[in-house]
Amino acid sequence: MKNLAVLTSGGDSPGMNACIRAIVRSANHKNINTFGIQYGYDGLINNNIKILLPEEVSNTIHIGGTILKSARSEEFYSKKGREKAYQNLKMNNIDGMIVLGGDGSLTGAKIFGDEFKFNIIGIPCTIDNDIYGTDYSIGFATARETIVNSIDKIRDTAASHERIFIVEVMGRESGYLALESGVASGAELILIPENKNSMTDVINKLKKINNKKKSVIIVYAEGCKFGSLNELSKKIKDSISNSNVRFSILGHIQRGGIPSPSDRVLASILGYESINQITKGITNKMIGIKNQKPILINLNDAISKKKKVDLSLIDISNIISKY
Ligand code: ATP
Repeated sequence: MKNLAVLTSGGDSPGMNACIRAIVRSANHKNINTFGIQYGYDGLINNNIKILLPEEVSNTIHIGGTILKSARSEEFYSKKGREKAYQNLKMNNIDGMIVLGGDGSLTGAKIFGDEFKFNIIGIPCTIDNDIYGTDYSIGFATARETIVNSIDKIRDTAASHERIFIVEVMGRESGYLALESGVASGAELILIPENKNSMTDVINKLKKINNKKKSVIIVYAEGCKFGSLNELSKKIKDSISNSNVRFSILGHIQRGGIPSPSDRVLASILGYESINQITKGITNKMIGIKNQKPILINLNDAISKKKKVDLSLIDISNIISKY
């Protein structure tokens, strides 16, 4: 193996740069060139591929986002698009590719690897932490920290004005981020898609909490189905007399920012290990982390199996956050 490529695809996540750095430098250590593909699969299709030298990744470990840029690529869903991508890799004499991204990006990687018998390793990068087989994905720890810092600030206002604050966090399919951020910020109520609550349940729980305290934080994963936050706020106002309800959507601040030390360490381990494995001839796998050690997961399992959230955290939170 002489030439490898790396790309970042789908939503960016903090720590992607630390991972690219680890890949480039670990490959260089084994006398392998790394080619950076810009704009994810779109860049692969358009031959936006150039060599990435070890010194070019200097001073990137602490930067959020991705120096390789990211994109969602419609063309890569088609066989024709993937064929173009393959021809570009062949033209550049590239023998293997490391894909950094979420479940969509890893699905694309698996399909591509199978189709062209191409050496592929995936690395889980998503703030959602919803990828099966790995304890953590790169970016999750930083996003959780950003959310907790934001909620700490919102709580000052909630407490001073005795308000009920709904804070919407990212997580369309998975409540992992909401759950851990909610516990870490002492939220009185955590609503996630995996824990089915009716509106009546929510109101009843809030009434109970509101009997003891007037300032309440509700962490709300965006995938919950209670209508708009306006509607939910109105429903709470109408059901709890004298309640003072506000909501805040944290939005894209959750994705960006300086990667936390734990994301940088994770990114360094997974990036290094991807080179270690691909140079041994391992392909069609994702590198994950289990009990702080890197592990290999079949790409197929990573993309097809569902990672479960630990619902017992909700029970713990209900007991310790009601006073
Ligand atoms: P995030 O966690 O932020 O959503 P993601 O990696 O899951 O990140 P997606 O938008 O789902 O983001 O996927 C990124 C890209 O991966 C898509 O734009 C597409 O190019 C490719 N991709 C996803 N699914 C497939 C598929 N079934 N076949 C081919 N390519 C795919």
